Amino acid sequence: MELKGCSFADFEVKKTLGTGSFGRVRLVKHKKSGRVYALKMLSKALVLRTKQLDHVLCEKEVLEALSFPFIVNVYASFQDELYLYLVLEYSIGGEFFTHLRKANRFPNDTARFYAAGVILTFEYLHNRNIVYRDLKPENLLLDAHGHLKVCDFGFAKTVEPGTNTWTLCGTPEYLAPEIILNKGHGKAVDWWALGVLIFEMLAGYPPFYAEDRMQLYQSILAGKIDYPRHIKKEAKDLISRLLTSDLSRRLGNLKGGALDIRTHAWFKGFDWEALINRTMSAPISINVRSADDASMFDDYDDDDGPDIGAGKVRPDQQQLFAGF
Ligand code: AMP
Repeated sequence: MELKGCSFADFEVKKTLGTGSFGRVRLVKHKKSGRVYALKMLSKALVLRTKQLDHVLCEKEVLEALSFPFIVNVYASFQDELYLYLVLEYSIGGEFFTHLRKANRFPNDTARFYAAGVILTFEYLHNRNIVYRDLKPENLLLDAHGHLKVCDFGFAKTVEPGTNTWTLCGTPEYLAPEIILNKGHGKAVDWWALGVLIFEMLAGYPPFYAEDRMQLYQSILAGKIDYPRHIKKEAKDLISRLLTSDLSRRLGNLKGGALDIRTHAWFKGFDWEALINRTMSAPISINVRSADDASMFDDYDDDDGPDIGAGKVRPDQQQLFAGF
């Protein structure tokens, strides 16, 4: 493998593609091969300061163990004094969030196409006892063909069947009631978040919204949803079955698992085989001029260099990153 034993010096660093909790993701070119990647940089100091080392180690482990058409591939990882690095497949089509905001809202078929990609991904993850826990338009990217790439596995977690996890994480608008109530949560939180995503794709805004965090949580717990008139009844039915606070009734969390969602009336006639084989053409087309085209991404100030946000890590703390 060409990237085995690689380091930061092996890459030509180009534009910043986005920023995460611990640092930037840069477009990079591997000097020897000329291949283009997204390099995710995580500041060691920030990881320690925010006590997120476990999440970061888990993200790497989970990503390395996975191989799925709609999950971003990881090709290598390495570290230096200041940073942890993940060399990722470059998703040239940009953030799904940007495409959704540009369109304001998606037509039924577009929403169905992307919801289907998320469903197959969750089905794949849940079969391996991994809960994703951070579904939102910002964590979905598109490839050159407009197909989905799920990125950011910073909150993903392995949960043994029948057990729960308690950490409060995820994005406020996408939080399931059981997370807010701190009841312990499992795979079902991903299906709730799918309901939020389908609503947001079709409406252009999330189903629960408030400036104030407490009000937002109250509205999620109250569970009252106002559907815009243009949303089809099949879509409404699916959303309401996903946004069900009673876990014993939430679709996806029942005996039939993800299949209950895949066979729902909203997906009538949908060709799941063609989607997973990526022979179905995507509803969003991406115009790519070259392998390192970054025009689909917002502009960031690149002048700060790679060290932005990084503080020093004490020499005795370096061993904490041995697992990376
Ligand atoms: P993350 O910290 O993983 O959420 O990444 C932060 C941002 O970096 C994302 O919202 C994207 O804009 C960008 N990004 C992350 N991974 C990739 C990738 N594989 N290809 C292109 N852009 C990426």
